[in-house]
Amino acid sequence: MSDCLFCKIIAGEIPSTKVYEDELTYAFRDINPMMPTHVLVVPRQHLTGLSAADEASDAVLAACLRACAKVAAQEGLTGGFRVVSNCGDDACQSVKHLHFHVLGGGKMTDKMG
Ligand code: AMP
Ligand code: ZN
Repeated sequence: MSDCLFCKIIAGEIPSTKVYEDELTYAFRDINPMMPTHVLVVPRQHLTGLSAADEASDAVLAACLRACAKVAAQEGLTGGFRVVSNCGDDACQSVKHLHFHVLGGGKMTDKMG
């Protein structure tokens, strides 16, 4: 999608700090980190969010979760980590390209809402 921020990052048209990539996914550091480790994992395929999961293959969806685990291992998050995917206005999704926040590097609150 030509006007999508994350599509532009994947294409290298907007700079990012790459953490991991494979055939189906790309992962980069969040520009406004909420934790010592805050990485965004995105599918190379443009999907507006998790509500559009039916538009993606099982391989793409699985690759996203596997990439989250790989990022956590690569970042040394042995104490644990959290994966969040905001979807829609109630969840305050600001970029309409499916992404998974991988957060870790410290103790998080148990408040998720
Ligand atoms: P969400 O609010 O769940 O849609 O998350 C979007 C995330 O993208 C936010 O955490 C932003 O800080 C992050 N973000 C926005 N622009 C950039 C960028 N150019 N590079 C890296 N992260 C970004
Ligand atoms: Zn996109």
